[in-house]
Amino acid sequence: MSATQLEKAREILGSAQHIEVFTGAGMSADSGIATYRDAETGVWENVDPTAMASIDAWARRPEEMYAWYLWRASLVNRAEPNAGHRALALWQRREDKKVTITTQNIDNLHERAGSTNVVHLHGSLFEFRCAICSRPWRGEVDFPTEPVAEITPPECPLCGNLIRPGVVWFGEALPHREWEEAEARMATADAVVVVGTSGVVFPAAGLPLMAHELGTPIVEVTPQRTDLSSIAAAVVEDTAANALPNMLL
Ligand SMILES: [Zn+2]
Repeated sequence: MSATQLEKAREILGSAQHIEVFTGAGMSADSGIATYRDAETGVWENVDPTAMASIDAWARRPEEMYAWYLWRASLVNRAEPNAGHRALALWQRREDKKVTITTQNIDNLHERAGSTNVVHLHGSLFEFRCAICSRPWRGEVDFPTEPVAEITPPECPLCGNLIRPGVVWFGEALPHREWEEAEARMATADAVVVVGTSGVVFPAAGLPLMAHELGTPIVEVTPQRTDLSSIAAAVVEDTAANALPNMLL
């Protein structure tokens, strides 16, 4: 069954000129990225991760949240891109195809594997901006080597307010420019590969559906079938690290 689906996937990708790859948490799972749970040791033992992801929480305790996000970035820096990330970077280097990547992940593993022009729909642990005027922060960021309870965020050189992590928190809109670019890619690609997403977190989950409605074949890479599987032209039931290196011949 799986071999047939892989062959189907190869056929679809082989004939496509523009492949848009849409990745989620499963993409980075094989890199051993420490999860919220793992990060919850020591100073954050009793912290609910969802309490660290809203603008209200930021307004109350910016030092604590800044320390939390810098520590998460630090954990990502200790992880390595996996064979799936590396395969996608190789796809992008091909001259016979255009391969674009849009991710829901806030890690930097696509970039560290060598991928370029990655659209981050949910922001990035490695981008920072003013919480009030949104000016991007270009200054130094020292990532902690061990968890600390509080770090004072830098101040915006323009307005003096605090610099915040450049990730999308609960209740916040997805970044406008990134969203438009992702939509444009979905509309112009002639094949969409969905990797390791649960497929259910809207509005991001709507992007592959949009491509599907335009008649674009979806290839899904997932260890377990998802809500998206029923509309996919091929479902390769495997991890990103196993499946992607063998998919585009
Ligand atoms: Zn500012």
